[in-house]
Amino acid sequence: MPDLSVPELLELDRRHVWHPYGPMPGRQEPLVVESASGVRLRLADGSAELVDGMSSWWSAIHGYNHPVLNEAARGQLGRMSHVMFGGLTHEPAVRLAKLLVDMSPDGLEHVFLADSGSVSVEVAVKMCLQYWRSLGRPGKQRLLTWRGGYHGDTWQPMSVCDPEGGMHELWSGVLQRQVFVDPPPAEYEESYAEQLRAAIEKHAGELAAVIVEPVVQGAGGMRFHSPAYLRVLREACDAHGVLLVFDEIATGFGRTGAMFAAEHAAVTPDVMCVGKALTGGYMTMAATLCTSRVADGISRGEVPVLAHGPTFMGNPLAAAVACASIELLLGQDWLAEVKRIEAGLRDGLAPAAGLPGVKDVRVLGAIGVVQLDHSVDMAAATRAAVREGVWLRPFRDLVYTMPPYVTGDEDLARIARGVCAAAREG
Ligand SMILES: *Cc1c(COP(=O)(O)O)cnc(C)c1O
Repeated sequence: MPDLSVPELLELDRRHVWHPYGPMPGRQEPLVVESASGVRLRLADGSAELVDGMSSWWSAIHGYNHPVLNEAARGQLGRMSHVMFGGLTHEPAVRLAKLLVDMSPDGLEHVFLADSGSVSVEVAVKMCLQYWRSLGRPGKQRLLTWRGGYHGDTWQPMSVCDPEGGMHELWSGVLQRQVFVDPPPAEYEESYAEQLRAAIEKHAGELAAVIVEPVVQGAGGMRFHSPAYLRVLREACDAHGVLLVFDEIATGFGRTGAMFAAEHAAVTPDVMCVGKALTGGYMTMAATLCTSRVADGISRGEVPVLAHGPTFMGNPLAAAVACASIELLLGQDWLAEVKRIEAGLRDGLAPAAGLPGVKDVRVLGAIGVVQLDHSVDMAAATRAAVREGVWLRPFRDLVYTMPPYVTGDEDLARIARGVCAAAREG
């Protein structure tokens, strides 16, 4: 096939290619990206470059086309891009597992490499259910979570996403019915902690696990909450024999100002999911970590194995880049960069608080959120940001940014201007 002109490409895209949460054929024309470098996306018409305010959905923490990550990929490509993981192993996967065990909260010892965040959540749920089955408690198979969460788009993850998000109505009768409590308030409230404790106690007999996103609820509404609730969950889960799962797919690798958000509360979950920034945004890979207690429990069961094994499990190319990305992160003062971005977003987004239609402005770590008092006009908001030279992807009532950690101060100010413009015109 000869090179496609931009109009040809857009027409074929519209007719044949499904985009996230999109209709078929497509109704909103996407921008065509030709290449990306540093914090900039270069569009196919050659003229425009946009500063990326999204890190490609939390993942490209070091920016695009990074020489160290490129070299890791190239080096691994020359050895092997993939081999099956059943009966075989290789250094990139083993090194990655060791890095994850060393950097994650104490007690998480075992790593299951999965091919996407949603799959890592499926595996986390399977671990928890199988743990109780192995211990002779097969009735413990429901999950408890707070509303406003997001855990992915496959079936088990969808069942613990915010039930107000539309998916639950669409799939009522099909989705597993889980136990929901109110969304966590931003500040610590003893009455809410009581609600958590009471719900866990009441349902303990049927609960396999509590699953939450710690400190930041991402795609379910970009809300922040007091880390103290994580301790409440830990204590209540321990008291009533329920496992605790933290989904750190969005929050992991420094985004909130701690390497993992669990550290804000000094809590170790029984199971933890990571993804998104794991490979620095290069390739799809995620991981489910668990404690020895969970692994031993599963291994003592009638079926003493974790029955899961994706074709591309442990993909060497992704694992090699993930190792390089983590080493790049650990080898720099990442916390100083995240704090610098936090300060820049606080300054840059302050003017948004005075805009008509803006309900709230909040910043935590390298995450900046402007919440509107209405549903955002996505097309108008995106256009306004692009006019400022910034790429954003607003949703629901939110215009938000989580820039790459390598974003310089001037580019950061530009991203903030883009967010303000999108909030004004969306
Ligand atoms: C993005 C996300 C997922 C799903 O990950 P995918 O790689 O998109 O399947 C799950 N949980 C959280 C918290 C996420 O942000």
